[in-house]
Amino acid sequence: PEKADLEALQHADVAALLPAPAAESDKYRRGVVGIAAGSARYPGAAVLAVAGALRGGAGAVRYVGPAGSAVIARFPETLVSDRGPAKAGRVQAWVVGPGAGDDAATVAEVLEADVPVLVDADGLRLADRETVRGRTAPTLMTPHAGEAAALLGVSREEVEGARLTAVRELAARYGATVLLKGSTTLVADPGGGPVRVNATGTPWLATAGSGDVLSGLAGSLLAARLSTRDAGSVAAYLHGLAGRYAANGAPAGAHDVANAIPQAWRDAR
Ligand code: AMP
Ligand code: MG
Repeated sequence: PEKADLEALQHADVAALLPAPAAESDKYRRGVVGIAAGSARYPGAAVLAVAGALRGGAGAVRYVGPAGSAVIARFPETLVSDRGPAKAGRVQAWVVGPGAGDDAATVAEVLEADVPVLVDADGLRLADRETVRGRTAPTLMTPHAGEAAALLGVSREEVEGARLTAVRELAARYGATVLLKGSTTLVADPGGGPVRVNATGTPWLATAGSGDVLSGLAGSLLAARLSTRDAGSVAAYLHGLAGRYAANGAPAGAHDVANAIPQAWRDAR
């Protein structure tokens, strides 16, 4: 790729973008993030997305979905609702999709919200393209190569061989910011412009649940009013560092990555 096609976030950029509560702040001003994730089959995805969100700086995390008891057992500070996304209460951003199984109705309901929405994992498959294109608030989609390939109708190898083209094409097709995960992370806006690249990660991040933590983290940054482009790239930066701290040369689980976010955050400030 041409150099001008890519842009890397520098330490100083990240430091300037990290939300910090003002002296008179309260939990609502810090931002509330809604997480619609998990299923009877995949309750852990909900727990991990909430884990990422709680360490992402939101004032509160609301959870809607079938894994409420697993979430509350692990994170008692979560506001759990059984009323569905539209009636769960006000949020400043939504995360939908991790471990969602086949719950298309919830994905559609979240996409109707007039706030930024992050769509990941099963949500990517269930989200209607015209609905995403028609949204008034911004959308951030976070596929790995396999998910990107399915959305584009090409093979995973084709995406791996032309990642920059793939991420730009997806952003244009969906009218959304797209964060393509992998050994480096690419973030493309629908209007074009340089693609943000992040390389803070480690191959130890290639572990189940790792992406769910990233989704929650990015969702919290959206709730703190970062743009989709900034929220996605700052989340990738912190997640990569957290992966390094959690692993430190040995295998780590996704929950260890979530637990290392505060250390990454302190380093990035
Ligand atoms: P997911 O596939 O949704 O669980 O997401 C995996 C997460 O781990 C993403 O944030 C990837 O960018 C990251 N990741 C996966 N493989 C690697 C790798 N080889 N090097 C760095 N980061 C990786
Ligand atoms: Mg994933």
